[in-house]
Amino acid sequence: EARTPLTVFEQMESEVRSYCRSFPVVFTKASGHMLWDRSGKAYIDFFAGAGALNYGHNNPAIKKKLIEYLQQDGLTHSLDMATEAKEVLLQTFRETILKPRSLSYKVMFPGPTGTNSVEAALKLARKATGRETVMSFTNGFHGMTIGSLAVTGNRMKRGGAGMPLTHTIAIPYDQYMGSELDTTLYIERLLEDDGSGVSLPAAMILETVQGEGGINVASIEWLQKMEAICRKHGILLIIDDVQAGCGRTGSFFSFEEAGIVPDIVCLSKSIGGYGLPFALTLFKPELDIWLPGEHNGTFRGNNLAFVAATESLRYWKNDQLSRSVLAKGNIVRTRLEKLKKAYPFLQGKVRGKGLMQGLAVGAEGMAEKICAKAFERGLILETSGPKSEVMKVMPPLTITEEALTEGLDILEASIQACKE
Ligand code: PMP
Repeated sequence: EARTPLTVFEQMESEVRSYCRSFPVVFTKASGHMLWDRSGKAYIDFFAGAGALNYGHNNPAIKKKLIEYLQQDGLTHSLDMATEAKEVLLQTFRETILKPRSLSYKVMFPGPTGTNSVEAALKLARKATGRETVMSFTNGFHGMTIGSLAVTGNRMKRGGAGMPLTHTIAIPYDQYMGSELDTTLYIERLLEDDGSGVSLPAAMILETVQGEGGINVASIEWLQKMEAICRKHGILLIIDDVQAGCGRTGSFFSFEEAGIVPDIVCLSKSIGGYGLPFALTLFKPELDIWLPGEHNGTFRGNNLAFVAATESLRYWKNDQLSRSVLAKGNIVRTRLEKLKKAYPFLQGKVRGKGLMQGLAVGAEGMAEKICAKAFERGLILETSGPKSEVMKVMPPLTITEEALTEGLDILEASIQACKE
């Protein structure tokens, strides 16, 4: 029997397996912005564990702290107990992240992944307001559990599984109808008109940059308008910063530049520092209406993740990482603009913020084709958007400028190869 590199996976894993279809090799090692497969072939990483590895694979400073912690027989369970690792994380988060931004949030540990953070946010908003529905946006993505899927704007991702959509109201994201049409008027009218059939929602949930939805960037004005609408109608504003947070767009929180203060913030992916499963839900202190034990779960407090997260927050003691994200983001942006012009067959559009950049490709199926070619040439790059039409450039924030340029060269060669 002929063995492909993935024989064991094909025989044993469900058809639902995903990334091994786009990246059909077996990986064995990773460091910084690089991965290696079993044959020793190297890949530059423009994917960063779907945004979970902002500080790079096996970040040496974080690894050192983890090894020390394990050698001291630190606690490794994930229960919601008071541990020293958790205490240090909470203090560091308050001192390094919240205080300098004059933010006052209570922190809860909703469960290990992004979707857990979203579920807790939705649940809290409904509990706090006594209202039932939630407003969500076209092309938004919030996770794979039932509640998160209900606020996700993508038919395929819902898996045809009959989600409770009666409790959600889908509204247009910024520029969904093109840049000329101001859809905020529609949203305001829906909420103000007794004849709209829409009852006032508990919350509005949005990403400031839609990651899975195709790197759609909401403008600062639009975000401010959404905040104002929420304030006017007593709607809680939930910012899902699972992908755009932890420095991806340049600032620690993606909403900082807009000067808005969400009622609830969802964090996961890179908050775990080392790719470890971890999530936080932040909310204004007055929303802390939970009764003890009302939201629990075995894996809500991963001590290894606390140790890793604490160390990763060191990057935010000054603005060095922020500045380098913006500088590297500009390198990517400039190059993508160049590619768009040099290869008109792409019918390309460039958009993004910080190191969350995308090149939307008009020609159908072409983005996936280019990414497959790039993978053969040693670059890991993912597509997003409703038709997988957007090539996402999301390397670890710690990537060197040389590697970034090398990766962009591979991308260009792959585009060239698809043109021929
Ligand atoms: N929200 C956003 C914005 C995301 O990008 C994701 C994951 N892609 C999630 C929520 C869900 O996170 P997880 O896959 O860890 O459940």
